[in-house]
Amino acid sequence: MIETDIVVIGSGAAGLTAAITARKLGLEALVVEKTALFGGTTAYSGGAPWIPCNHVMKQIGLDDSREAAERYLRGVLGEAYRPDLVGPYLDNAPRMLQFLERNSQVCFKPFPLPDYESSLPGAAKCRSLLTPEFDGRLLGQRLAELRQPLPQLMLFGSMQIEGADIHPMRHALKTWAGFRHTVKVMRRFVLDRLRHGRGTRLVNGNALAARLFHSAIEAGVALWKNTPALELIVENGAVRGVVVQHDGRRVTVKARRGVLLATGGFGANDKMRAKYVPSPEHHYSLQPEGNVGDGIRLGLAAGAVHDPKHAGDCIWTPVSVLRKPDGSIVKYPHIFIDRAMPGCIVVDPQGRRFVNEGASYQTFVNTMHERGLTEVHLIANRDFLRKYGLGLARPSPFSERALVEAGYLIEAATLTELALRIGVEARQLEATVRRFDEGAARGEDPEFGKGADAHSRFRGDQTHAPNPSVAPIGEGPYYAVALHPGDLSTVGGLETNGSAQVLGTDGQPIPGLYASGLDMNSIMRGRYPGGGSSIGPAMTFGYIAARHMAQHTAKAGQHELEATT
Ligand SMILES: Cc1cc2nc3c(=O)[nH]c(=O)nc-3n(C[C@H](O)[C@H](O)[C@H](O)COP(=O)(O)OP(=O)(O)OC[C@H]3O[C@@H](n4cnc5c(N)ncnc54)[C@H](O)[C@@H]3O)c2cc1C
Repeated sequence: MIETDIVVIGSGAAGLTAAITARKLGLEALVVEKTALFGGTTAYSGGAPWIPCNHVMKQIGLDDSREAAERYLRGVLGEAYRPDLVGPYLDNAPRMLQFLERNSQVCFKPFPLPDYESSLPGAAKCRSLLTPEFDGRLLGQRLAELRQPLPQLMLFGSMQIEGADIHPMRHALKTWAGFRHTVKVMRRFVLDRLRHGRGTRLVNGNALAARLFHSAIEAGVALWKNTPALELIVENGAVRGVVVQHDGRRVTVKARRGVLLATGGFGANDKMRAKYVPSPEHHYSLQPEGNVGDGIRLGLAAGAVHDPKHAGDCIWTPVSVLRKPDGSIVKYPHIFIDRAMPGCIVVDPQGRRFVNEGASYQTFVNTMHERGLTEVHLIANRDFLRKYGLGLARPSPFSERALVEAGYLIEAATLTELALRIGVEARQLEATVRRFDEGAARGEDPEFGKGADAHSRFRGDQTHAPNPSVAPIGEGPYYAVALHPGDLSTVGGLETNGSAQVLGTDGQPIPGLYASGLDMNSIMRGRYPGGGSSIGPAMTFGYIAARHMAQHTAKAGQHELEATT
């Protein structure tokens, strides 16, 4: 048996933020990670937290207020708004950010993305932030212990690309700035490959996970990989520690101050998806293999509550699927790249459009669910494909041939032929494209308003006028990719209070047990106010949990607690 102050189960944004905070407040912290790699879904992600009233937006002359953020969240959440959960979030999210900036390598840069429900009162820009790139070489040998991004979202196997790379790389042969940027990124990658066997320029969520991981190492957090938490130790209704599998043995770890569940939800658990998620047989999750609901299971065994009304809530995304000859599949999340660009539409099995293609991933898939759609098609012509790419098919100079041959990309010379291939009525598809093209020629989408709202406009091609998100589909040849509902992660975790304490069936906190990230029922209750609405709360409630545990220990430096409130 060993003893420590806090045990954190899971090494994503929620768990590592808590562990770093705890160490900085004078506590001993042990993080146990089930897989061989640290970082969880966070390492796959865009690495954007949604933080109202953040100080970072001031760098680009923007401002925010707690009142505006509260008004906005009341509008987005409606009856699901819980002041006892949203209040602590709004109070602590900006503090968490400043605390990490002062005490770790975690920092953020401004990103003027509009909130997703940009027409609601209180909506703002730049509550979503981005993680600056991180030099993976700083992790030395330990870089190999960090989960890499999804391979399908990288180039050449291990070259990471962030949003800011996309425009210059598309213009590499057209503008001097594009050429210079592309050469710089490629040169670094080639040298990295020669010296380290892989890219070491880490961006997006991989940079966030790396910054958290590096900071945790520097702060003296004990980090055990290949160590699944097996069961909680419960004595007289209070959680006193965890039994873990470590080095092939069952090890009992006593936690003097508490245990944090941060195991990242259950996206990789087929049975739980079948139980909770709509149309599970057509649903694809992007979560890593270890995220199978262990935190929820452990919490339930200790008397926690998993609200069936929210258990199936997810961050949705449309997903396309490549089926390989060996039977394996590659899933591509169409988060916004491609479908928000000008010159494409998405049609239902009748050949009709049904949504603003540039809508947030949450709205897009919610609309699919409302209409019972499990397969729709993203359609564009060859010029679009060459310029922007379509899912796994990269823009020029990459070739699409292998994906056409694999049946992932459906190619046709005419719309009639395309309709036949994707199984929709040809006359209806032609009429849909004709109608769309008429408006698009003026830069308008009278039917669904693509590019009329701040979000889809922002996600479009800013070099395209008059509407960055709308252009006619134009002449063939045409291409289609099938899209299905999927998730970037589940968000329906255990019920907690505003201090991240897990609640029992009597509505009272279970002493010693905390949850954050996807193991905590999302304070957004299945809604998605802006980019980063998962990582923002995950980090904030990790911070809140650690502080709550620290406030009950004589070892915590009181001056530090005060300095950060
Ligand atoms: C492609 C993609 C892009 C995304 N972009 C964004 C974005 O920009 N902003 C945003 O807010 N959200 C985004 N998301 C969602 C976001 O990544 C997750 O919701 C968030 O990172 C979850 O953090 P977490 O700490 O709760 O869990 P995770 O990061 O998943 O970490 C959980 C860890 O716990 C481990 N674990 C599981 N069971 C056990 C056990 N029994 N014992 C020990 N360890 C265990 C897992 O192996 C895993 O490493 C994205 C997701 C994807 C897939």
